[in-house]
Amino acid sequence: MGKTEIQQDTYLVGLGVSPGIGIGRICLLNRLYHVAEWEIDESEIEGEVLRFKNALTEAVTQLNQVKQNVASQPHLREHIYIIDTHLLILEDEMLVGNTEKLIRQKTNAERALSQTLKQLRLMFESIEDDYLRERSSDLDAVGQRLLRILSGITDTTLELVKEKSLIAAHDLSPADTMQLDRSKVVGFLTDRGGKTSHTAILARSLGIPAVVGLESATAVVDNEMSAIIDGSTGVIVLNPSEETFKEYLKRKLAFEYLEKELARYRDLPAETSDHHKVMLRANLEIVSEVPVALEDGAVGIGLYRTEFLYMNCSTPPGEDVQFAEYSEIVERIAPHPVTIRTLDAGGDKFIPDMSLENEVNPAMGLRGVRFSLREIDLFKVQLRAILRASAVGQVRIMFPMISGVAEIRACKRILAAVQKDLEHEGISFDSQVKIGIMIETPAAVMVAPLLAKEVDFFSIGTNDLIQYCLAVDRGNEHVAYLYEPLHPAILRALKQVCDAAKAAGIEVSMCGEMAAEPMYVPVFLGLGLDELSMNHACIPRVKRVLRNLSRTDGEVMLKELLELATGKEISAHLDREMRKRLPDIFGEFVI
Ligand code: PEP
Ligand code: MG
Repeated sequence: MGKTEIQQDTYLVGLGVSPGIGIGRICLLNRLYHVAEWEIDESEIEGEVLRFKNALTEAVTQLNQVKQNVASQPHLREHIYIIDTHLLILEDEMLVGNTEKLIRQKTNAERALSQTLKQLRLMFESIEDDYLRERSSDLDAVGQRLLRILSGITDTTLELVKEKSLIAAHDLSPADTMQLDRSKVVGFLTDRGGKTSHTAILARSLGIPAVVGLESATAVVDNEMSAIIDGSTGVIVLNPSEETFKEYLKRKLAFEYLEKELARYRDLPAETSDHHKVMLRANLEIVSEVPVALEDGAVGIGLYRTEFLYMNCSTPPGEDVQFAEYSEIVERIAPHPVTIRTLDAGGDKFIPDMSLENEVNPAMGLRGVRFSLREIDLFKVQLRAILRASAVGQVRIMFPMISGVAEIRACKRILAAVQKDLEHEGISFDSQVKIGIMIETPAAVMVAPLLAKEVDFFSIGTNDLIQYCLAVDRGNEHVAYLYEPLHPAILRALKQVCDAAKAAGIEVSMCGEMAAEPMYVPVFLGLGLDELSMNHACIPRVKRVLRNLSRTDGEVMLKELLELATGKEISAHLDREMRKRLPDIFGEFVI
């Protein structure tokens, strides 16, 4: 029994990646198992290579089956690309070639494969960008599938899921997630994973509450254990007491009611009670997210992270590949604009043909525009593709990780050269294309008035800005308690940026995760932000708060908040005010 004797009301906290409350019993899909390792004889090498190749073929068959299942479900069809990504990984030369090479050095296929996976994972982990780093989960998923096949473990566990199951897994691959039967699964929790993993994206799309990044939850939960998942707050309650159960039941009902209410907001204008408009746009990583973004009321894309496109290619994508992707997004989002951010690679290991040294401190290394300004040919290819897409619809170009005027001027010089080339070649583009920068370094905040003279818009990347301002690694759980969006230093930084933009008469947007927090809407109004760009699923919630406040409410509140001395005081004050002003939204059942 051991694990089932866990205390009543045991709380675990991870990352809530898909909102909603699920109450049910744990169904443990323990995907971790020991990889058998042994040495092989010279005479066994060919047989072992063949066993590995057969496993590859079987994995392709399995994935094609999943693909067929997915294709028959309209709400999942847009995610087929994930399976395609997995199929592509199965063809990857490094994965296949390196494993075969190791087998030829007389090791069994399982060990050769897991060593290869380890090497590839290290490459991924050195990437500073959260989004790209989390793509390593696709590699893991494919690796786990191959290891299961090689070890003779049949993939049937998902079929055994009973009614009202709360799936617990060390890791749940996107392919597994897609196959979850919504009528049976009330939520899922995983040890691994981050906010921007494919699994998290899918969970939101499926409307299944999910908490990831619990680190070792699968070591404490057991099959049939009763549990509650709160995908909004990232809380898991194991063995809930009757009191807790009732409390969460109330929250669940409130959440379901709210969901229905929120649907109403999708088509309403994003404006305050005194008719001040704020553009609510979506952050986008992949083209297939465009329809859901529009469905959730996005009036354009405020941040298109182009890194993903580079990630999925074995060589940097050429101009035509990039143009095809950009123009498709631009066409599909028309008549609204798309802000295309140039490559923001955290580390560059993933870009083939570039063998740069491991960086000791990648967050402060060759990332964002620093990389582009070094690899000018690659940069020019991307700019040509973006400019060509600007002839198809409204495009805005944005440069990441700018830390001073010299960098933006360098970018503009290169952009001008590319424009000139296109002109000479008779290729059309929007000559008035708007140029903006991410404000995500403290230096950019300090010189915001100077930067504002150089560009058409600012977009504040709070994910990085907070990390750099407060010197808190955004991915380090040990200092997570210091990562405070409402820290007085951050509020002051935001105000400086917005004031500089207003003084120069340019637009200012926010596209970091902070923009998706409904509680912060008065701050955004007080700052005078023109645009908020966020995960599309958060748009209706933010819009609802926006429509229930006036711009003056925001200005008054921000003034009060700026007088407070600590992040905690600011947060408590804002919380109190919001509960008082909007009890229906921030009252007893805060969802
Ligand atoms: C940010 O830093 O806030 C941002 C939006 O960029 P990314 O999360 O891609 O670094
Ligand atoms: Mg950033």
